[in-house]
Amino acid sequence: MRFYVLTLFPEMITNGLSHSVIGRGIENGLIEIVPVDIRDFSKDKHRHVDDYPYGGGAGMVMQPQPIYDAYMSFKDGLAENTPVLYMSPQGRPFDQKKAEELSKLDDIVILCGHYEGVDERVIEEIVTEEISVGDFVLTGGELPAMCIIDSVSRLISGVLNKDESFIDESFSDGLLEYPQYTRPPVFNGRTIPEVLTSGHHGKVAEWRHQKSLERTAKKRPDLLEKAILTDKDREYLKRMNNE
Ligand code: SAM
Repeated sequence: MRFYVLTLFPEMITNGLSHSVIGRGIENGLIEIVPVDIRDFSKDKHRHVDDYPYGGGAGMVMQPQPIYDAYMSFKDGLAENTPVLYMSPQGRPFDQKKAEELSKLDDIVILCGHYEGVDERVIEEIVTEEISVGDFVLTGGELPAMCIIDSVSRLISGVLNKDESFIDESFSDGLLEYPQYTRPPVFNGRTIPEVLTSGHHGKVAEWRHQKSLERTAKKRPDLLEKAILTDKDREYLKRMNNE
């Protein structure tokens, strides 16, 4: 899978994604990240890419032409129906379901804004969807772009090794993941749940599922409304509520 990132800070993208699992995925040729420096497409002799907002007001706005030309420089090589995602606090909140949907594509284009954002006309011209990483405002779209690239990449076959499965992870089945423990067996007087050393796979799986239900109910009850629950799950939650 290839990610094209339209940005004013290509090094942020390259440096931020060259480590750990994603760095390994790049080295192994499973993912390719192509930062495209919008400034290279400025027609201004000082490489300016922003200007004052029409109508006045604080801050600067990214001009449409360098962004458009940067996109057009690689557009012809893109797979059909490649989405162009604009990172924006006004966009649809990003979630695991969207990451799964994107992980099935060959190419993704991500546009990172800066300053007060980008001229609306280039959004209308090239963007297929606006995506937000939360109800807060960041300085630029590079960190959101990295969040999306990371979460999508780890779903691509071979990026995680066999010890790093995403199958049980939070949100994969609409629930939060169960608590995890590793050695030592006693830490600051705190022991680990006995069932985890019982060697009984069925009991471990049942305990983990119950813990997933419990912590989702406690930490993110909103998720339970959308999660696919069995009658047994509902009974368990009811019992837990009554206790
Ligand atoms: N003036 C814009 C507004 O109020 O909607 C905010 C601009 S913000 C300072 C600059 C850039 O950061 C945006 O163009 C966007 O690319 C990125 N950004 C900021 N917050 C974001 C968020 N929560 N999710 C995704 N991108 C965000």
